Amino acid sequence: MRILYVEDEKFLAEAVIHVLKNHKIMVDWASDGNEGLDLALKPNYDVIVLDIMLPSLSGLEILATIRNRNIKTPVIMLSALNEVEDKIKGLETGADDYLAKPFKTAELIARLNALTRRPPIAEIKFLDFGDLKLNTTDRTLNGLELTDKESEILTMLMKSPNLAVTKSQILAHVWGADSEHDENYVEVYMSYLRKKIKHLSSKVKIKTVRGLGYKLVEE
Ligand code: CA
Repeated sequence: MRILYVEDEKFLAEAVIHVLKNHKIMVDWASDGNEGLDLALKPNYDVIVLDIMLPSLSGLEILATIRNRNIKTPVIMLSALNEVEDKIKGLETGADDYLAKPFKTAELIARLNALTRRPPIAEIKFLDFGDLKLNTTDRTLNGLELTDKESEILTMLMKSPNLAVTKSQILAHVWGADSEHDENYVEVYMSYLRKKIKHLSSKVKIKTVRGLGYKLVEE
């Protein structure tokens, strides 16, 4: 699991990150709002953990911006214990969970695990783009079976419909940040995916954006 953690209190952040890393959770840390937003717009993360009170841009503003851009990454909001208003605002803006400060890191880990756990069969999860419907639970695209990697790559593209996803982002997310694979793997899997989408006679294409990466387009 890889998360984005936006928190301006350095000592708190370092302590939390230390524990998360011991639990094999990869963490990118941002200490201010603008930096947090830049990172949150990249489709690299399984969960985003957002403090509310931040320099330059609040956690709520970051949340509102990413939800407006149709980024569906689960978000956990953090804020001081008595800020009930913030909690309500956060959930209304599209947060998936909320944790009051001070919190135990074990509690945060439990929430992270809950948000990233595979949904039970009853809650089959679909992602849509154009005439394509991806079932991320049984990894089928309009009924056609995908491999795990193909499904993960397509999930990234579908979750980021307006922004190109770079090869290095795909490599880091699908194969892991310290993977020994290189970007040729991404190209190979992209060609597999294109063949499958073509086989479905879909109007959707995976477009190569020169120097940027890939995005889905409908023709
Ligand atoms: Ca803060």
